[in-house]
Formats: sequence, structure tokens, C-alpha cells
Amino acid sequence: MTMLRKSIRPLPHFLMPNAWKLLIIDDCATDRKIYRRFLLKDPHHYYQILEADSAEVGLGLCQHTPCDLILLDFCLPDMSGIEFLDELRQKTFGSSVPVIMLTGRGDEEIAVQAMKRGVQDYLVKQHLKADVLQLAVRNVIKQLCLQTQLQKTQERQRLIATMLLRIRQSLDLEEILYTAVREVQQLLKCDRVMVCQSHPKIDDQQTWQNHTTDQNNSNNSLLCYWAGSDDCNFNLLEPLDSKANLVVPITLSHKEVVSQPWGFLIAHQCTGKREWQSDELEILYEVSVQLAIAIQQAELLAQTKAALEKEKQLNAFKSQIVATISHEYRTPLASILAAASTLKQHGDHLDEFKKQKFLHIIEQKSRHMSKLIDDMLVMNQFELNKTKFKTIPLDLEQFFSVLISEQQQFFSDRHEFIFNSSGNHKGFWGDQGLLRLIFSNLMTNAIKYSPQGGKIELHLTGQESEVIFSIQDQGIGIPIEDQTNLFQPFCRGSNVDTIPGTGLGLAITKACVELHGGSITLESQPDQGTKVTICLPKQHIQESS
Ligand code: ATP
Ligand code: MG
Repeated sequence: MTMLRKSIRPLPHFLMPNAWKLLIIDDCATDRKIYRRFLLKDPHHYYQILEADSAEVGLGLCQHTPCDLILLDFCLPDMSGIEFLDELRQKTFGSSVPVIMLTGRGDEEIAVQAMKRGVQDYLVKQHLKADVLQLAVRNVIKQLCLQTQLQKTQERQRLIATMLLRIRQSLDLEEILYTAVREVQQLLKCDRVMVCQSHPKIDDQQTWQNHTTDQNNSNNSLLCYWAGSDDCNFNLLEPLDSKANLVVPITLSHKEVVSQPWGFLIAHQCTGKREWQSDELEILYEVSVQLAIAIQQAELLAQTKAALEKEKQLNAFKSQIVATISHEYRTPLASILAAASTLKQHGDHLDEFKKQKFLHIIEQKSRHMSKLIDDMLVMNQFELNKTKFKTIPLDLEQFFSVLISEQQQFFSDRHEFIFNSSGNHKGFWGDQGLLRLIFSNLMTNAIKYSPQGGKIELHLTGQESEVIFSIQDQGIGIPIEDQTNLFQPFCRGSNVDTIPGTGLGLAITKACVELHGGSITLESQPDQGTKVTICLPKQHIQESS
């Protein structure tokens, strides 16, 4: 008679949290009873026991009620143990339920064959003792647990490898950090995962925790990227609760101070309790190491890009110099050549006035070419960051009176020059050479771009820690659309017409002002005039070579 019976007094399921489901397939009811008794006596494990008295019933049960282990009698009425194994693999689509084979004495050889086909163990039925059966079953279950654990670990490793691959696919730091938090959050299935950059000035985690930050706001000095629930109540201002958070530092290996991490990788759970597993911590560590490498690579790339960009700018500047020299030198050189040959060929027949006129042309054009070369050399020094900057205490009133008298040779009768100063200029330190460049450029512009003359007003105001200088003319002004680029080398207004110039003066002026730690602004209205204002700190600490 085919039969199926559950264990006599099964414990309710909630009392058997670790109950293993075990199927005994044996046509001998007495044997089944013995095995059941032995197993239920096991002090280490609970078993939920199913029974089948034929291979067919056993197979049916396996299909509908997956069990953890099968105790299989080798000699069944409807098929042999080996045939049963083949059927079982077929019907359960290759699933590997562990099997312990029960054989009679003398059948050991068959049992060994069965083991080669995947059976975990075999026991000889005659005189089978309780402890032997219990131990065999426990061993197989232990093996099963280890195998499951191994599979889980392998699966995790695979997921981690895939995730790391995705993280490392980009060289863009922002993208890397976003991918990392998203991937880790999906893998750990927690409320939120964050990468927060620590403030360079903050040296321990406690102060870091108390530092204000806007999440996902890169305007803040702390970078913070997160993935997960928007409702998550994580707050960096509150002390980190170790139960709710897993926190791992991200430490860059090339940093000299290793104790100061670049930032932290944080997994956070606020909905419900969460016991963090050691392998989850390992995942965070693994990701933090990979993030450190990715961050270093991104930093290197950014540096290389910046160097390349600088190189490109320098090359463009050099090409511009070549173009400017060939363009700007052609006309004055032609004038010089023409004046010199006239003097050489016809000098004897020219009166003194004409001779002076040609000599003046030669002098003026040579000066212009010389200034052009000087300006380009100065600009080149700035581009290469090689400008010498040495400050000394300066009496600004005296400095301006010398400068103005030098510039006076360029004024015409039409220019009215007004200089006034107010406030306290004492205690001003500056680089005399660079300051001369700044103010002579501005004065030359005011004169040059006021061909109709007019007032040129100069104001110098001394305040407690800075001096403010402004120069205002009533000249041709600058079209609004040209005003933004005027501080770039070689940029000129579209209204300059035939007024000579190369567009280097303001670029040099701005660079000199910035070396002094100051600022420059320009206001202008076409046909109404231009006002340039410069603020300089009385003392600028940085000294560059
Ligand atoms: P240079 O290199 O000889 O000084 P530049 O005067 O053309 O040549 P910048 O001093 O750099 O070059 O000035 C750039 C441009 O700004 C000028 O070409 C001119 O169009 C405009 N600009 C500067 N100052 C004035 C001003 N005071 N009035 C009107 N336009 C001005
Ligand atoms: Mg100029």
C-alpha cells in the first residue's frame, strides 16, 4: 500500500525555527519508523519528517514539497536507487537535493557508484545506530549550509564585481560617486547610501559629523552625494547612530596625511531595525577602496586636463603673437624704411624741418614697435606665471605726480587733466614696476580714446585697508557688446577705427592688479566716456616669484 505520513507529533512551525524537512523513502514501514525515531531524538536539530514507501510517491512529494534531504532506500519495489536518482534530477530540473543512500550489507559497491552520481553519503541498514544516522544527516546538512553560504558569497562577489566595473567605467568624479551610491544602495537594500567629502580643515570624524552640509549641494564646501529614499531622516548634524549607520572612510593613498580621509561612505537605515552583517561592512570597505582609486584617477585626469588647457592657451597665445607681430610690424616698419631711405637718398636736398619730420616718424614708429615687444614679453611672463612681484612701501601721491608728468608729453591742448586725492594712503605696499604698468596703461587709454580731448579725471581715495583709484574720460566709450572681453589679450573695441593699439594693455593691467590681490572694473557708454576703477589692498601678503 502506498502511503504518506507526517511525523507523529510535529512541533508547530513557529517552535521549530530551524526545522529541516527530511523525506524518508523506504518500502519497509518498520525501518521508516526506526529512522523517524532516531532522528526525532537528535538533540541538535529539529526535523519535519515526510515519508514515502515507494519511488513514485517519493518523486511526487519532491516535486510538490521541496525538502532539504532525502533518506533513500536503495532497493525500492518500483525502481532501484540509481534509477530514482536519474528520475529525481529530471523531474526537479537538475535541482540537487542531497541524498543519503541506505543499503543492505554487501551493497556497498552500488552505494559507491551512487555517490559518484552525486549522493552525499551512504549508510548500511543492518544494525544502524541512532547516533550514526543523526551524525550522517547532520554532516550532510552542514555541508548543505556551507554550500549555500558559498553560493551566496559567490553571488555577492559577482554583484560586487559588476558594481565595481560600473563604478570604474567613468572618469568623471561626479558620475562615479553617483553610480557608487546608487549601486551600493541597491545591493544593500537600505534606506540611503551617501558619499560625503570631509572638509579639509576638519580633522576628526566627530567634528565632521557636526559640520553643516547641504545634501547633493556641491556649492557647499562639503560634497555629498546620496541615493535612496527622499523621506530618509538622515542628518549629518546629528551624531551618527552606529545602529542606523555603517560608516567607512575613503582614504586616498597618495595623501601625505593618511589620518585625514578624503570623505566617508555611509549606509543608513532609519525605517525599522537593521542588524548590519559583516559582509555588508566588507562591501562598503571594498567600494571605498575602489572609490579612493577612482577619485585619485579623476583628480589626476583633471590635473592633466588643466595642464593641457594651459598648454593650449599658451600655444594660442604664441600663434597670436606671431600673427600680431607680422601684422603690427609691417606698417610701422614700412614707414621707418621709407623715412630712412628718403633721408639717405635725398637728405642733402631736404630742409631742416622735413629732416626732423622724417626723424620723428622713425623715432615714433620705433617706440611703438618697442612697446609692442615689451607688452608681449610682459604678457608672456604672466602666461608662464613667471612675473616678478616684489612689494615695497610707496608714497602714492609722489608716485602719481611722477607718472602724470611723464604722461604729460602725450596730452594735447584739448585734454584737461584733473587729479585729486583724499583719505589716508599711508601704509601702502606695492610693486613699483607693475603699478607703473597699470596706471600708464589706463592713462594712455584715456588719452588715446579721447581724440576730441575733454576732461580726464583721476581720483585716489585711501581707506583703512585699501586704496581706490579711478580714471574717467569723455572719449569714444566702448560698445556694450565689446565690454566683456576687453581684459582678454588682443581684444579691442569695434569702434577704435584707426586709433593704434594691440589690445594687450588692459590684459596686462588686470594681471598686475590681481597679483596685488586687487580688482578692476570698467564702466563705459559709447560716445560718452569710460571709467575704470581699481581697488588695491594696502598690503598683499602673497609674494610670487
Ligand atoms: P595697447 O595694447 O597698446 O594698450 P589697446 O589700447 O587697443 O592696445 P587695451 O588697452 O587692452 O588695448 O584696450 C583694449 C580695448 O579697450 C581698446 O582697444 C579699446 O577698444 C578699449 N578701451 C580701453 N580703454 C578705453 C577707453 N578709455 N576709452 C574707450 N575705449 C577703451
Ligand atoms: Mg591700451
